[in-house]
Amino acid sequence: MQTIHQSFIASVEAQPGKALFERPGQPDITYAEARALVERFAAVLTEIGVQSGDRVAVQTDKSAEAICLYLATLQVGGVYLPLNTAYTGAEIDYFLGDAAPRLFVCTPATLAEHKARETGGLRVESLGARGEGSLMALAEAATPRADCVERVMSDPAAILYTSGTTGRSKGAVLTHGNLASNTAALLDSWHYTAEDRLIHALPIFHTHGLFVAANMSIVSGATMIWLTKFDGEEAIDLMADATVLMGVPTFYTRLLKSDRLNRDTTAKMRLFVSGSAPLLAEDHRAFEERTGHPILERYGMTETCMITTNPYDGARKPGAVGMALPGIEIRITDRESGATLSDGEIGAIEVRGPNVFEGYWQMPEKTASEFRDDGFFITGDLGQIGDDGYLRIVGRDKDLVISGGYNVYPKEIEGLIDDIPGVLESAVIGLSHPDLGEGVTAVVVPQGGASLDETGIIAAIGDRLARYKQPKKVLFVKELPRNVMGKVQKAELRKTYADLYK
Ligand code: ATP
Ligand code: MG
Repeated sequence: MQTIHQSFIASVEAQPGKALFERPGQPDITYAEARALVERFAAVLTEIGVQSGDRVAVQTDKSAEAICLYLATLQVGGVYLPLNTAYTGAEIDYFLGDAAPRLFVCTPATLAEHKARETGGLRVESLGARGEGSLMALAEAATPRADCVERVMSDPAAILYTSGTTGRSKGAVLTHGNLASNTAALLDSWHYTAEDRLIHALPIFHTHGLFVAANMSIVSGATMIWLTKFDGEEAIDLMADATVLMGVPTFYTRLLKSDRLNRDTTAKMRLFVSGSAPLLAEDHRAFEERTGHPILERYGMTETCMITTNPYDGARKPGAVGMALPGIEIRITDRESGATLSDGEIGAIEVRGPNVFEGYWQMPEKTASEFRDDGFFITGDLGQIGDDGYLRIVGRDKDLVISGGYNVYPKEIEGLIDDIPGVLESAVIGLSHPDLGEGVTAVVVPQGGASLDETGIIAAIGDRLARYKQPKKVLFVKELPRNVMGKVQKAELRKTYADLYK
């Protein structure tokens, strides 16, 4: 197996003149040009003193140059640590304090502010959305460096912070082997090759945009149509000359709003992938009806890269996330006892394989408590494997509602509510309740113009749900709180309505 950086060099040598990045409004960057910049950055990193295992923290706007910086970090044996662009002041202090990087690369606009954080051990430089900034100035002056620091598969390659949907973000330490093995499994499963042209509109501080989309393209020698943000109409225009789109569910919700989304405009595309959060089964069906393409939904997390995928060739089922990728094992266990459950039973999703991270950065106890003795990692998600062998996620362990002693899985109720005409989407949460422990509560977003009320919602689902699962209260909101990855933040909702039954 080769590291991502070694595979990158192989791609450069195979097709130096091919575009790695095609950037609307900016010149393309070929594989050879990308390598030249990677080698300049490698020289700068070495001058700054980045050594094997040193962290390079990066909080910049999305740019092709930032991907080159990632590859340069791997080349010099460093550990790449991208940060969400939304984090500010105190959050940055937390991440820099926690990760103790050798170098922090920020945006040109924030350089002055962050320079104040420089110490003997920490250097701060900048990189802009169009490749400008102090780091680039250093790179332009540097003599490119081609030699690579030897790394083995068990060495750390990156620290990626989790999205912070359920609490404070944790740094997941991912090895070269994690990244390389997962990329290989995905290339194989999705038939992804150098012929592919990917619409890349995801952020690159997260596993989806960086370790799925970018790594797959770099390793296979494909071309990325590089967008700094997702715009449905622009994406539809680009589909005339692309083959794959990888998106979060909101991309698909937005695409469905365009009347230009149809069989003709998507005829050249071969694959639409969704992940990072649950894709509404209704969007899956509507998308297939409009375009003829069944969206391929997959499941993964920061700590494990990708775990399961719907099949490329077999049925891609709405509401299911498919089967484990090659070389990866999954099992469903009892939440409390840890005993393995049989097919059809709901329990904790556990995973083992070359994709699973080494541990949380500087959290040995947290790491130990999330692993079983036989090496399985407890994902924190609940699910069931059906008779058809497909995994279905029913929600997060932390979002499970226990009402009157019974387990209530929010997704089942959300699915029924979402099917009610006039409902755009919903979130079911448990709120502290004097009699029941937790009261099942539905938070509903009506479609524009629809008039809905609590009695109507409860009546519509009443005969299809056991009494203990029925919402005790239904609240209506304009939108659900989401983090930058588009994930519904139920913890936020629980906080907002904490006193509802008090
Ligand atoms: P934190 O761990 O900090 O609370 P997070 O779990 O949202 O944040 P990520 O690692 O970005 O951080 O997200 C992984 C989670 O996203 C999974 O554990 C799962 O809950 C959810 N997820 C990913 N893909 C899917 C999918 N296809 N369907 C449903 N949920 C998904
Ligand atoms: Mg998580």
